[in-house]
Amino acid sequence: MPQLVDLHTHSTASDGSLPPREVVRLAKARGLTALALTDHDTIAGLAEAVAAGAELGLEIIPGVEISARHPRGSMHILGYFLDWHSPLLAQRLAVLQQARADRNPQIIAKLNALGIPLTLAQVEAVSGGGQVGRPHIARALWEAGYVASIQEAFDVYLGNDGKAYVSKFRFPPAEAIAMIREAGGVAVLAHPFTLHPADPGELRSVLAELAGLGLAGVECYYPEHTPEQEALYLALARELNLAVSGGSDFHGDNKPEVELGRVSIQAKLTYDLVAGLKARRAALRAAPG
Ligand code: AMP
Ligand code: FE
Ligand code: FE
Ligand code: ZN
Repeated sequence: MPQLVDLHTHSTASDGSLPPREVVRLAKARGLTALALTDHDTIAGLAEAVAAGAELGLEIIPGVEISARHPRGSMHILGYFLDWHSPLLAQRLAVLQQARADRNPQIIAKLNALGIPLTLAQVEAVSGGGQVGRPHIARALWEAGYVASIQEAFDVYLGNDGKAYVSKFRFPPAEAIAMIREAGGVAVLAHPFTLHPADPGELRSVLAELAGLGLAGVECYYPEHTPEQEALYLALARELNLAVSGGSDFHGDNKPEVELGRVSIQAKLTYDLVAGLKARRAALRAAPG
């Protein structure tokens, strides 16, 4: 029996619905061997996850998922094996957390101007106490009956073309990768299709550029990848000498179609991926820069 892992998950520290310890407990119950907690722009859940992993006997890979600047689509960069005590990492992430804190009231103000009297307090009530993001605003809109579904909230109001959309500050990819590496971590491009590349050649050049900036891997296995996309990403990883990663992007009830340990690609998420990423980490630490 191969040892199964999941290298992309979210908790209430960002926009997942389960607290970090519950994500770890569920992963253990579902028979996983290793789990990376990769909350959006925050490492606030890592201490709890690592402690729960030690208690329950599950390897926890301290991670993060950083939104980086890209001309279109969205670029998310995963960081693994972080030194989560790094003051520099905390400082850099605080910039992103401030950007969110500034943006959320602006979104609420736009909704109010559209005749929807939603308050920040209502949004914070559904966030589980962690960082507040658009999925929480979507959920609050749905719970208050202003939309028929979370998806409608994004389609009409919160998506990048929505009526209440507000953009927020993002670091350029070079800085996102640098902050991960400065914390001793390994940087991996998440779900490459969200870059909306025009063709495989364009994706190849973006990946080559990121590799030049210190990117160490690509998330090839992901529930929303088509078989063609998966094959392309694996081929590009091989060609550009990048490690292969994969994960479910578990968000609990905030993304109910993704069940931890039970996604279609789960059989491909084996401990080999962790071993490959650890080899990159060892190489980086031996020859930094
Ligand atoms: P934020 O980090 O606050 O900008 O919110 C980003 C999160 O919102 C992403 O991680 C997704 O989980 C979710 N999201 C963004 N766009 C959409 C969309 N069009 N439909 C559904 N969920 C979305
Ligand atoms: Fe999310
Ligand atoms: Fe993502
Ligand atoms: Zn994610």
